[in-house]
Order: sequence, then structure tokens, then C-alpha cells
Amino acid sequence: MSEDKAKETENKPEEAIKEVKPEEPQKPAGEPKKEETKAGEPKKEAEAPKKEAETDGSKYSYPNKWGRVMLTSAEEVMGAQGVAALLNLAGMKTLIGNYPPDNMKKEFTFEMIGKLQAGIWEMYGNRGARVFATRAGEQTFKGGLSQFKSVAAAAQVAMKVGTLEAKIKLGLEFFCRFFNSVSDQVVEVSEDDKHWIWTITRCPVCWGRKTDEPCCHLAIGVLQAATAWVTEGKKFRIMETECKAKGDKNCVIKIEKIPVE
Ligand SMILES: [Zn+2]
Repeated sequence: MSEDKAKETENKPEEAIKEVKPEEPQKPAGEPKKEETKAGEPKKEAEAPKKEAETDGSKYSYPNKWGRVMLTSAEEVMGAQGVAALLNLAGMKTLIGNYPPDNMKKEFTFEMIGKLQAGIWEMYGNRGARVFATRAGEQTFKGGLSQFKSVAAAAQVAMKVGTLEAKIKLGLEFFCRFFNSVSDQVVEVSEDDKHWIWTITRCPVCWGRKTDEPCCHLAIGVLQAATAWVTEGKKFRIMETECKAKGDKNCVIKIEKIPVE
């Protein structure tokens, strides 16, 4: 892990929230970070906010709506009491009975998401976390799309044509852009012979976590919902093969190209 606490910048989270631009171009993964200080040049506070410090989980966020959906779907699985216990455990007491508002403002931080996922894992184990993630993923996906009906409709029209493979490719590329533009998560899509590859270079799900096995179940849940939506209900085998929480560079999720049903 090359994370370096010392690199925290002065950027305010509000700055990030203001720039909610759709289709914001994303930096390619692995782009070398610029040196913070050039020789003889004092570090300035007033510099334009650049997304450099990858260690500060309060700087990056999901829309409130998605945070809200995480909590409401957690309620479905574990009840309101369970969610209260979870929020307690995660050190997020202020959210008990006070879920984020139902809007697309980027205020639900990666730090919060990571802590929540870690709490669920702690309370319910790896398996329980998976069950939860499938449901939450589905709802996050649906909730996210309902805000973008016209975009989603256009995507669906485009996806009507072509082979199953072409549809999925188009669909994943669409969702990739969608996620990258409405949240601070950064995703790239690629493929090999047998898989679609969803690479998360800035991942909220495992933010701040250390695990022995991949733990980004929520991302898998969202992809399950997304691939089902694109293919009108087909199921695909989806697994996370690399995960930042276990020391890998990125979180890598592979989707088999041939559906199981
Ligand atoms: Zn991850």
C-alpha cells in the first residue's frame, strides 16, 4: 500500500460537492501523481482543488441518495434496530433515525461507506455481507437510475440492438460513465476472452479496510443488478479477483461473458 497520510491537502469537501458536473472527464488510472512541491516553490493553499490525495476518505463521496439506499436496504435485511446497532458500531451514531436526504448531492463520504461495509462484515460475516450487498446493490442501482430516466432510456434503446455481448459492453460502458460522473468513484471497463473487467481505481466500498479476501460485495451487487437490467434478467457469474483492502492496486471485478441462466 502506497498510501501516505502525510499527503492530505487543504481541500475542503464542499469544493468537491460544488463541482457536480455530468460527464466529468476522469483521470486515467495509474497516472503518475504530480509532485506536490517543486523546488523552491512554497506549497500554496489556494491552488485549484486537484484530486491528488487518495488517502482522505472525507474528500470523496457518493450521492446522498445512494447512502440513504444503503441504509434503507440494510433495514430490510437487519431491521431498524440492526441498522442502529450497525451505525453505532461504525461510529456513525448521528445517522441513527437521521438518514441522508434523498438527493444526488455528493455528501456521503467514502470514509462512511467503508466504515458501514466493515460494520456489516463484522456483524454478519462475509456471507451476510454478501446477502446484504446483493439487495443494496440492486436498490442503489435502481435508485440511481430513476434520477436519470432520459439517459437510461437512451441507453436502453441503444442496447436493444446487437448481440447479447454488444449489449453488455454498451451497458457497462454506460454505467461506468454514469458512476464516474455522479460520484467520486473511478471505474474503467475492459475485457479479456472470457470476462468483462470492471476495474475500480478509487473504491468507496473497501475504503480504509484491511481484509484477507476481496470485500467489495456491494460493487458486485450493483453489477449483478446492472447486467440483469441490460439483458432483461440474465444472471452472470461475477467475482472480485483483486481488492485494495487485501493490498492490491485496484479492485478488479470480473463478469463472465456467458450467462449462467
Ligand atoms: Zn474495493
